[in-house]
Amino acid sequence: MNQDHTSPVSHSSLPDWLRGPRVHGLPALDATAAPPALSFEFFPPRTEALETQLWACVRRLEPLAPHFVSVTYGAGGSTRERTHQTVTRIVSETNLTPAAHLTCVAASQGEVLDVARRYWDAGVRHIVALRGDMPNGDAYAPHPDGFAYAADLVAGLRRIGDFEISVAAYPEMHPTAVSAEDDLDNLKRKLDAGATRAITQYFFDTGVYLRFLDRCLAAGITAPIVPGIMPVSNFAQAAKFSAMCGASVPGWLAQMFEGTEEDAETRRMVAAIVAAEQVRLLRANGIDQFHFYTLNRSDLTYAIAHILGVRPKPANSAAPK
Ligand SMILES: Cc1cc2nc3c(=O)[nH]c(=O)nc-3n(C[C@H](O)[C@H](O)[C@H](O)COP(=O)(O)OP(=O)(O)OC[C@H]3O[C@@H](n4cnc5c(N)ncnc54)[C@H](O)[C@@H]3O)c2cc1C
Repeated sequence: MNQDHTSPVSHSSLPDWLRGPRVHGLPALDATAAPPALSFEFFPPRTEALETQLWACVRRLEPLAPHFVSVTYGAGGSTRERTHQTVTRIVSETNLTPAAHLTCVAASQGEVLDVARRYWDAGVRHIVALRGDMPNGDAYAPHPDGFAYAADLVAGLRRIGDFEISVAAYPEMHPTAVSAEDDLDNLKRKLDAGATRAITQYFFDTGVYLRFLDRCLAAGITAPIVPGIMPVSNFAQAAKFSAMCGASVPGWLAQMFEGTEEDAETRRMVAAIVAAEQVRLLRANGIDQFHFYTLNRSDLTYAIAHILGVRPKPANSAAPK
């Protein structure tokens, strides 16, 4: 074969390499340290096929003995019954500790608290308390007899039971907040009203989250601000959703996924590497709690949990309720 092996691109020489910056890898995970506490978020299934997918995901992740698993509440309360059914099935059929998401939208205070009481009666002791968004992307308007904001819902929940309460936090600011300071004051109000932790909107730029933690601490917040991790299985979809929820998509992330649109296998590998690097960086910065937006798919979450040192537990030693 007559091939021209000379490359048109001129690469650097060994001396160039040695003159360049030295970047050290992430520190190895301490094998003797306790693995981090994980939580997994699911959404209530709309069809039988999605129900099967959800339960396959739950069963796969269950042996990892997460601290809790949460089930979302559709925009405008549209999944009230489906969320309830999913949460109560988790109570009755698994060793998992469920948390039910609950929002203020399109319901009076009495109706929202009735839903919470039903959870309490079903043995559910953890609520993720949210304001929620209007259906169809309409501008938010509180129900005339409703809780206006998540902080009001937290206070309402506190009056009816000793719930563990998680709330939402936004490292890149809630999209409609007047200012970052205002949004931080709001987070503080939610925690002061009785929430025990915040879970963040997902983010891809880890520095943004770490700087947010500094600002939380400076504002007097000491509750855990648990990072929400979104393993990206479909970049185009994630980019579209990020634009709506105010999570920025760095250029390097788009570049990582560029050209993988028709190549599911490479895409999955890239997704795993991106998320693994993110959690390892967070772990190296001392973070020991992680909340995964699973989108009812277990593979990426399971692999990343494994990288974090979390191993399946035998069935009879799952997380205590
Ligand atoms: C971890 C997590 C889970 C989520 N789960 C769901 C879910 O299951 N279902 C769902 O529909 N949505 C969910 N969301 C999305 C959430 O409902 C939206 O982001 C919603 O727009 C805000 O909810 P919040 O609880 O953060 O609201 P809030 O904390 O009430 O804040 C909403 C906005 O109002 C501002 N604000 C607060 N109080 C006041 C006040 N007194 N006066 C003026 N402005 C004020 C805040 O700064 C902010 O801009 C979730 C988000 C996260 C991060």
